[in-house]
Amino acid sequence: MRALFLTATFIVLVYSATAQYKYGLTPVTLPEYREHVKKDPSKELIDLEQFIPGVKMDIRYATTNNFTGEKIYPLAKAYARRPVAMALKAAQEEFRKHGYGIKIFDAYRPYAATVKFYEVYPDSTFVASPWRGSRHNRGCAIDMTLVDLETGEELKMPTEYDAFVREAFPTHPVADPTVLRNRTLLIQVMERHGFRVNASEWWHFDFRGYRAYEIMDIPFEKLSAP
Ligand SMILES: [Zn+2]
Repeated sequence: MRALFLTATFIVLVYSATAQYKYGLTPVTLPEYREHVKKDPSKELIDLEQFIPGVKMDIRYATTNNFTGEKIYPLAKAYARRPVAMALKAAQEEFRKHGYGIKIFDAYRPYAATVKFYEVYPDSTFVASPWRGSRHNRGCAIDMTLVDLETGEELKMPTEYDAFVREAFPTHPVADPTVLRNRTLLIQVMERHGFRVNASEWWHFDFRGYRAYEIMDIPFEKLSAP
């Protein structure tokens, strides 16, 4: 009887540990991540708010103001792998010469959030497929826009953040010359610093070296713990 109970407990534990990984990926957890960083310091997730002077934060998934209508993250944090953080810092310096600065909507995203997004909105044009994961899960993607450094206002762009419409495609025609100029500047500067714009989202930039970095499922509260 006791053996049966132990077996049942074991099955329940294994099931609950793997339940969110039903799409066939096995993301890196905190102990594995710590091992990786020891071997390769470029894998460290850097707190972007601390690392990039003057960067603005509007972490939408830490609020209900996002397409799920739910607060997904318990903390409003933005992390990226060290080379991604360094490239973004260099881009911020270039934007500053134009009188602009970066506002981050999202950066590293735990894999569990990608699963949730897909289950809420199962369209892989706009939401990463949980079978492949997102470059956000690798700490190698940034969702962002630009703000005017004097007013703090966001620059006019073709759509709102996370507008899942054709107008969000970075190649979509834009009639307003100011909007076109803003979108072009954002994309050109980011591309100069090693990023590539997503084909269906003007606000999403992938770091070109993303393949070297694994998909992770470490919640923010574990990363920010001392
Ligand atoms: Zn994104």
